[in-house]
Amino acid sequence: MKRILLTSIAIALLTPATFAKLNVVATTPDLAAIAREIGGDKIELTILAKPTEDPHFVDAKPSFIVKLNRADVLIEGGAELEIGWLPKLLEQARNPRLAAGAPGYVACAHNIQMLEVPATLDRSKGDIHAAGNPHFLVDPVNGKIVAQNIADAFCAQDAKSCEAYRANLKKFADRIDAKLVEWQKALAPFKGQQVVAYHNSWPYFGERFGLRIDLFLEPKPGIPPTPAHLAEVIAKMKADKVQVIIVDPYLNRRTAETVARNTDATVVDVAQFPGGVKGTDGGYVQLMDYLVNSLARALGEKK
Ligand SMILES: [Zn+2]
Repeated sequence: MKRILLTSIAIALLTPATFAKLNVVATTPDLAAIAREIGGDKIELTILAKPTEDPHFVDAKPSFIVKLNRADVLIEGGAELEIGWLPKLLEQARNPRLAAGAPGYVACAHNIQMLEVPATLDRSKGDIHAAGNPHFLVDPVNGKIVAQNIADAFCAQDAKSCEAYRANLKKFADRIDAKLVEWQKALAPFKGQQVVAYHNSWPYFGERFGLRIDLFLEPKPGIPPTPAHLAEVIAKMKADKVQVIIVDPYLNRRTAETVARNTDATVVDVAQFPGGVKGTDGGYVQLMDYLVNSLARALGEKK
């Protein structure tokens, strides 16, 4: 008995040094889902934004500062997605490990082919996509690039587990490659069709799967719909027979429903984040499954 007790004390004392997990903070649930695929049980993971929260306007809690202060790695989207709330938190967290350029800081936009980068920087009209469209992770090919960025950072911070991170990366990338064939096939019959979105979060998804998601209920990203703008959208939808409107959980579904009533369109609930809509909390692949299938279904019914 005594020996067992001593052994367990010895193990307990050894644990932090020998098996310390990498302490990771991810800003949004999609980045966190991919970090989990790569890090598995070798990381301690904190997610700041809720899956039903607008990633541009996250409710910054004081507890976030503590989490950021203790983190070894910070994973953010970059491309100004979090610019409205994260810099203030980082300033207060005073953690040099997460400073821009430090190995613990991961901007996932690294190596992403950004869409809609403005030729001239003009924030005066209130457009919050001033560094290009930051919603790149709903393209599964970008999902693989983000996974690579995360694996590189984990390896740099935790060399002893690098082999495991690399193996997980390969597994994830292989799974995406296999699924991509299936997803492309499901949406192939709707190539070139137009879909209306509330917020301009879907150009990468549209480009990957051959849909035009380029008409929005918001007059500009971050600017709420106005009656005049909605009237214009309704006229365009009628003229071009656009029949599906997609809405993220943190946006005003009733506005979309009003437009749908005027155009005989269907409202489809979508999310950029696993867990943002029902049946998607299983992770990144499950979310993509949901997005592809629910759009294929809605477009198919309207054919
Ligand atoms: Zn946006």
